[in-house]
Amino acid sequence: MKILTPREIFPGESRVAMTPESAQGLQKLGFGCVIETGAGLAAGFSDDAYRAVGVEIAPSAASVWAGADVIVKVRPPEPSEVALLSPGKTLISFFYPAQNKYLLDAAKATGSNVIALDMVPRISRAQKMDALSSMANIAGYRAVIEAGSNFGRFFTGQVTAAGKVPPAKVLVIGAGVAGLAAIGTATSLGAITYAFDVRPEVAEQIESMGAQFVYLDFADGQGAGQQDGAATGGYAAPSSPEFREKQLAKFRELAPQIDIVITTALIPGRDAPKLWLEDMVAAMKPGSVVVDLAAERGGNCDLTVPDQKIVSDNGVTIVGYTDFPSRMAAQASTLYATNIRHMMTDLTPGKDGVIVHNMDDDVIRGATVTKDGEITYPPPPPKIQ
Ligand code: NAD
Repeated sequence: MKILTPREIFPGESRVAMTPESAQGLQKLGFGCVIETGAGLAAGFSDDAYRAVGVEIAPSAASVWAGADVIVKVRPPEPSEVALLSPGKTLISFFYPAQNKYLLDAAKATGSNVIALDMVPRISRAQKMDALSSMANIAGYRAVIEAGSNFGRFFTGQVTAAGKVPPAKVLVIGAGVAGLAAIGTATSLGAITYAFDVRPEVAEQIESMGAQFVYLDFADGQGAGQQDGAATGGYAAPSSPEFREKQLAKFRELAPQIDIVITTALIPGRDAPKLWLEDMVAAMKPGSVVVDLAAERGGNCDLTVPDQKIVSDNGVTIVGYTDFPSRMAAQASTLYATNIRHMMTDLTPGKDGVIVHNMDDDVIRGATVTKDGEITYPPPPPKIQ
């Protein structure tokens, strides 16, 4: 069978789903690999680099989609791309079936199979295929780099002949995968880092990354009332009004002292909660920076404009980019392509270049959203953890 990778057509997308390294892994599974000419260029992989490891270069997107048994890409397909699927073909990419019902229906109509990498169950066995986590890790890292390049000061404190420089104070709101990566990056650059999450069980992880957990002012000061936002499966639930009030009061208290705020707070299936409000921005020092990783879902900061960097009236830079992984395309492509290679390993038990789409496998079942023209989303809950 052949695995083909088209060039991403989403404007500004620089990632690619197959790298020369992942292609070698796919070839060992028995697949022939083909990539559309120029597809890897923006991520730093030339056609020659693919050719050197035996990957065939296809002249056009049309030839990629026509010749493929398996198509691997990054972004959910555009409707024009779904139309190129047909019975027997398998697409592996991000797909977000809950938000893209029309794509799901379109894929069903083609009779093809779609494996949505965003639907890989978050169980231990599937971590190697968890592209959401790979990309969130990069986004958290890049958010700190972006903050630093807009901050105009050091992260670390220094005593120099020209004077004493205080360390930057960074607040990370939301300590999931992206938030923890941001904490690790900010502390490694020497900042004093604080972090808040509605799930008190992450306090230990926050502290192990070198940050201080911000407790709210409930009676015991150690998170008794902080349980409020914890939902099932490691995700958050909306906060109660009383909890939210305490959270906002704490942020108001911190705002004048904090130099950099990185927000990553998300609740599954909802718009991002507004947590860093206009008055908090107004209370920050000029030159401070807010990086809002929730911008794509409406933003955690009142002033965020998705895909833009703006400066508030009091000189606070607010970064609302929604493409952080694509801004580190070489790293993101390497990790994403490795996630795909792991998925292909599980799909090819015989290592003979033939896919076995085993719907009894929790991970494959969970990620499969259409199978032979039937919609198989949502999946039943996984049997194992
Ligand atoms: P996410 O992107 O859904 O949310 C980011 C964070 O925002 C979460 O920590 C959430 O608690 C927090 N949040 C929501 N509302 C908030 C508010 N009002 N104030 C402050 N914080 C708020 O999270 P994610 O990165 O997808 O991770 C979710 C969970 O899944 C984590 O516990 C993570 O460790 C876990 N996970 C497990 C696996 C695995 O076992 N394979 C893989 C990835 C993630």
